[in-house]
Amino acid sequence: MKYYTCNTDQTEALGAALAEQLAPGDVVAFFGDLGAGKTAFVRGMARGLGILESVTSPTYTVVNEYLSGRMPLFHFDLYRLSGPDDLFDIGWEDYLDRGGICAVEWSERAEELLEDAVRVTIRMADGPDSREITIEAGGNHAAVSL
Ligand code: ADP
Ligand code: MG
Repeated sequence: MKYYTCNTDQTEALGAALAEQLAPGDVVAFFGDLGAGKTAFVRGMARGLGILESVTSPTYTVVNEYLSGRMPLFHFDLYRLSGPDDLFDIGWEDYLDRGGICAVEWSERAEELLEDAVRVTIRMADGPDSREITIEAGGNHAAVSL
């Protein structure tokens, strides 16, 4: 399903709406360039989960954990990883078993591990604040309807 947003708040609202449809163990894989709005979308997901902490980009830490909501949110940024092996090294499989949502920026780095993920692709559209956001249910995931 395709959505268009014309400011950051609308992208966050879409993230919040998606989070409400997710269940423990779900993975959301993000695709899109630097500055597309992936972190903004995850910030909205955090709000949808009732997370109180502020969400910052995990570019340097690879993963940030938010535990104050109705389920945990594990926010990954794989930009600095060289491939799927690196993701195993940081304990990816353990995160999947912790009863939370994994939101993964720069999923291109480990796409083969993310086949069952909900895919969120964000592209610049006309105008600096416009974005085209495509949300697709992957592999084993039930359809998402927002
Ligand atoms: P990414 O994580 O994809 O690199 P960020 O979410 O960190 O991107 O940054 C997106 C930037 O674009 C922010 O400065 C945000 O305010 C701005 N922006 C402008 N319009 C939008 C929009 N419609 N959706 C999301 N972000 C937007
Ligand atoms: Mg980001």
